[in-house]
Amino acid sequence: MLPEKLTLADRVLQVPPSPTLAVNAKAKALRAAGADILNFSVGEPDMSTPAHVCEAGKQAIDDGHTRYTPVAGILELREAVCARFKKEQGWDYTPDQVQVSCGGKHGLYNIFQAILNPGDEVLIPAPYWVSYPPMVQLAGGTPVIVPLKEENNFDLDPVALAQYVTSKTKAIILNSPSNPTGAVYSQASLEAVAKMAFDNGWLVVSDDMYEELTYTEGKIAHILNIDPRLKEQVVLSNGVSKSFAMTGWRIGYSVGPIEVIKAMNKIQSQSTSNPAAPSQYAALAALTGSQDFPGQLREAFLPRRAFFVRELQAIKGVTCVNPMGAFYVFPNFSAYFGKTFQGKVIEGSVALADYFLSEAKVASVPGAAFGADAFIRFSFATSMAVIEEGMARIRQALAALR
Ligand code: GLU
Repeated sequence: MLPEKLTLADRVLQVPPSPTLAVNAKAKALRAAGADILNFSVGEPDMSTPAHVCEAGKQAIDDGHTRYTPVAGILELREAVCARFKKEQGWDYTPDQVQVSCGGKHGLYNIFQAILNPGDEVLIPAPYWVSYPPMVQLAGGTPVIVPLKEENNFDLDPVALAQYVTSKTKAIILNSPSNPTGAVYSQASLEAVAKMAFDNGWLVVSDDMYEELTYTEGKIAHILNIDPRLKEQVVLSNGVSKSFAMTGWRIGYSVGPIEVIKAMNKIQSQSTSNPAAPSQYAALAALTGSQDFPGQLREAFLPRRAFFVRELQAIKGVTCVNPMGAFYVFPNFSAYFGKTFQGKVIEGSVALADYFLSEAKVASVPGAAFGADAFIRFSFATSMAVIEEGMARIRQALAALR
């Protein structure tokens, strides 16, 4: 126990630990203790990192790439990021506009540390990924939550956004495809937001981590293609974790205005230095080698998504938007709130997710963690057999509520 005078920092007390990681740890601990848990919690592809990528990581160690690299990451990897954007999107960036960090999450953290002053407001459309508001708070900023509508397929909502804009609005977070909703923003909504961002001089943080995992026809809309003048106002956040099943390697990258990237490098130089050198070489192999893998992930996810959505929609009282990207379903269970199990009331998503875990042995993440209490998130980056069994258990658990 700490001595009474030795208090922790206020900033730590403001934020919770990451709920996605917490549920995953709990599910794993229960499973290790012998419980038959089906884990739909954390967002992590169930395939292994492609063999040629693993080989490149091992080779990097054998080649002696075990020392510090430049703070922003090895030049070859930053060049590969630029080449990829040029080829895929036609965007021109130079390696000094790229920062490689310890996962996309760390890149986002660096962005907010680099741009926010106390009181600066950041618009965050909800449902949002769990770590956006705490990251903004840890940087001294104020998260401003803008609710999106389920009946609108969780599309970005410029009219709602406009209601939350103040003179202190400094930035907006975009995330398409979205974690947790799977929404892909429409061209029209992005056009309206592009105009707002340009007119007001906001920084747009575009978290594109799931861009390779879409279930739409053709390329999805991107704010930078809608208004290229925004190039000096957009920071792109991306990484190899999802599209190349490299969550544990911890490699993400941020690309944007040179001043912002320089400031982020300052933060990174004073905190983590460079991301692990062998991981950077593995990521280089992922970005420059065969590009078949993300397509294989998509193919594997398609039938699981179809099954999960169909089964959820078939449950009385449950609604579920068809995700157009990422690998989550986000059903609305609010029709079950207020019901009881053995006299205990299921008040909201936290109680329902707890109930699913204790009674159905199904691990999921409550919507409250994403700023949307009516919902629960399930990852479908798990086998069809697990999804089938999970659905049977969920149906049974819901039927047992009175
Ligand atoms: N982004 C993933 C998720 O939402 C990974 C866990 C995390 O860092 O939140 O589950």
